[in-house]
Amino acid sequence: MRLDRELHRVSEQDAPASVDSEDEIPADHPRYTDLVTRYRIEQGIERGITHLQGMHAEGRASAFDYLLGEQTIPSADTATRVAAAELLRADHPVVSVNGNVAALVPAETVELAETVGAAIEVNLFHRSEERIQRIVAHLEDHGATEVLGLEGNARIPGLSHDRARVDREGIYKADVVVVPLEDGDRAQALRSMDKREIVIDLNPLSRSPRAAHVPIVDNVVRAIPNLTEHAKDLAGTDDRRLSALIDEFDPQQVLDQAERAIRDGVDREET
Ligand code: ATP
Repeated sequence: MRLDRELHRVSEQDAPASVDSEDEIPADHPRYTDLVTRYRIEQGIERGITHLQGMHAEGRASAFDYLLGEQTIPSADTATRVAAAELLRADHPVVSVNGNVAALVPAETVELAETVGAAIEVNLFHRSEERIQRIVAHLEDHGATEVLGLEGNARIPGLSHDRARVDREGIYKADVVVVPLEDGDRAQALRSMDKREIVIDLNPLSRSPRAAHVPIVDNVVRAIPNLTEHAKDLAGTDDRRLSALIDEFDPQQVLDQAERAIRDGVDREET
């Protein structure tokens, strides 16, 4: 009984109060990013753009982000700059959007695509026409003018079921793809199609970042705007210098550095 009371007291102190709007989350809260992220995923589920499974994915990522101090570590920033170089050098870059990405960073994704001249394609693991339509509308509300994904008229070889479906003019044709929070099988299948692959994932041990040419171990809410900033900074750089940046990059090294930061801890503000 005493323990019950104690637990109740602790959880009342620690649990974030439920809020009706994102503006109610105090910007100076030590776990601000996490609270905003959770709120946006919940909203995404309520609006029918995020699958319930997306909540599990977010929960897992949130634990890694906590251990990283909810900050972009230097190796992730290096990888993000290389990713920007990949996108600027590409002939047909595509940013793939799933239900979590649409809920978390719709406007930021549109800005990234505009900055690097990439197409946006909605690509869902749990594919449903209705959910794709909702995500397309959501991205259009945030400034997108053209969003691919509804056609699903081509297939990624080597994958079964609907998760193989992509647009012929989008991911199928792409030379560079950004796949934030991708499923491991699909990340590996895309790599087998000889595409250059940029994966954003907070888990450096997950198969998707391990399949990527450029793994960015960072929260998508920080990584996408950071990618846009690096692309703006590198705009106008000639292809030879972009290629040098890309060739010097070692994906295994950034995965190792991220894993070390998670295991050994990083300097961070009190959370
Ligand atoms: P894999 O199939 O690659 O082994 P998994 O089964 O662990 O991966 P999924 O559930 O398919 O992973 O995908 C979710 C992935 O997305 C997780 O690795 C998780 O860390 C990552 N993730 C979820 N939310 C975010 C976020 N906000 N920022 C970065 N990564 C995220």
